[in-house]
Amino acid sequence: KSALPSPPRTRIITVANQKGGVGKTTSTVNLAAALAKAGLHVLVIDADPQGNASTALGADHRSGTPSMYDVLIEGDTLASVLQTCPQFPSLVVAPATLDLSGAEIELVNMVSRETRLRRAIEDYIIHRNEAGLTRLDYILIDCPPSLGLLTVNAFTAGDEVLIPIQCEYYALEGLSQLIKTVELIREHLNPHLQLSTILLTMYDQRTNLARQVADEVREHFPRQTLATAIPRSVRVSEAPSHAQTVISYEPSSSGALAYREAAQEINQRAQPAGATR
Ligand code: ADP
Ligand code: MG
Repeated sequence: KSALPSPPRTRIITVANQKGGVGKTTSTVNLAAALAKAGLHVLVIDADPQGNASTALGADHRSGTPSMYDVLIEGDTLASVLQTCPQFPSLVVAPATLDLSGAEIELVNMVSRETRLRRAIEDYIIHRNEAGLTRLDYILIDCPPSLGLLTVNAFTAGDEVLIPIQCEYYALEGLSQLIKTVELIREHLNPHLQLSTILLTMYDQRTNLARQVADEVREHFPRQTLATAIPRSVRVSEAPSHAQTVISYEPSSSGALAYREAAQEINQRAQPAGATR
């Protein structure tokens, strides 16, 4: 029995920020794990050739492993590349291998290059339905640190954008470009897309700077910013080296509790209107 209620439809959340090291991957895997631990059915799509989300979720992603490269470039089904996370039976992963680094360029000359991920997801949702499998509650897409075609595919496939913001200097730098990109995608490729959520990461409440950044973000994005901020915590950064999320690695740590709270907040919020799946 789920500890959290299922959303009325599958929610597809794209986790993006063209800056590296702001907590995209950490937030994707830990939110996914928190939702799965609460009994929900979750798919994580690793769209970053680095494959860090695959690592943290214990998915094999050696070069040659069936992966998002095969889905996006070869047109293979998502079902054919999925691996179940060892820690959470209701959490599946579509891994990324280094092969995906070539996809950014290979996609340029492909037909419907911006919508290949959306197609694959739509087909997979239909496949699960036809196979009588439990409906997915969440799909989380982890993006690379750029606004290239992989990220464009993730925006085109998603209903919601979640932006992690690191509470550091220059936190808001690049944000207007990111928002402009989301608006362009909405105009041309995906009218449903909404910037629904901002998550403050690596928050250290002892520093004035972190508090100032948090205040500034909340002022600019009062509706989107989650009340829960993720604290800086050594356990969070250690977990991936054990092929785990902090939710399974150290469930009582401050980082695990914060991610579980953030997941609960996201699940409580209404799914944006216009989402169709
Ligand atoms: P991105 O995916 O945006 O590049 P990551 O999620 O990989 O960012 O995080 C960048 C680095 O910061 C990683 O080494 C990660 O372990 C670390 N990190 C992320 N969140 C936290 C946190 N709350 N506390 C401590 N370290 C963190
Ligand atoms: Mg990452």
